[in-house]
Amino acid sequence: LDDIMIRSEKMNVAGQLAASLVHEIRNPLTSLKGFLQLLQAGAQHKEEYFHVMIEEVEKIESITSELLFISKPLTDNRSKESVTKMMQDVELLLQSQANQKDIQIKLQSSTNASVLCDRSQIKQVLINLIKNAIEAMEQPGKIIVEAKEADQKIIISVIDEGCGLSEDILHRLGEPFFTTKTSGTGLGLLITKKILHNHDADFHMYNNEHKGSTFEIIFSKAD
Ligand code: ADP
Ligand code: MG
Repeated sequence: LDDIMIRSEKMNVAGQLAASLVHEIRNPLTSLKGFLQLLQAGAQHKEEYFHVMIEEVEKIESITSELLFISKPLTDNRSKESVTKMMQDVELLLQSQANQKDIQIKLQSSTNASVLCDRSQIKQVLINLIKNAIEAMEQPGKIIVEAKEADQKIIISVIDEGCGLSEDILHRLGEPFFTTKTSGTGLGLLITKKILHNHDADFHMYNNEHKGSTFEIIFSKAD
């Protein structure tokens, strides 16, 4: 029975994902078709139309590439990876995006421990979380990416000074395609959860006392 339950639960998730996918891709397609018809009829504002059409195509592009990531069976390419090194790599990648909004990414690592993981997947997780942190911040400020060790566990936290998580949003986080952003895909946290689940890592999120929110990953330490 347990097995059947697990299987039907999986089917349900796949079914839900397929249903939302159809919806998410149909909207930009409908709008593309409309613009094509207007152009075919000899419309005036061609430049504006092309601009919107490219945006719609880009939306479909980002949804499909993120979905590819979800549907790919995660190849297990695991080795012992330094947590600090992965944090440094990701910081380098996102520095300019943060600088554009006057946001500083601060790395604070009090451990040189390693975790057994697929390096590119965990970097993807850090990218997703730090990008969300940048996007949540309207004002200049800082994002702290912290690594520490406690009881054979490695804890990585991404702490922002952004808008924080309302009750409503907390309930829906990680739901496929749930986004509050105009150009969001709502797949980042879903992918994050999937990767961390496959790594037997725990994942928590909560609001900070003063401002913003914290996303926390807990790994077992590699021997
Ligand atoms: P996307 O970034 O494309 O919207 P995500 O799955 O990464 O999709 O995030 C889903 C939603 O969760 C976001 O649209 C936002 O409302 C909320 N969220 C995620 N991270 C944060 C954060 N650090 N602060 C506030 N809200 C967040
Ligand atoms: Mg995101």
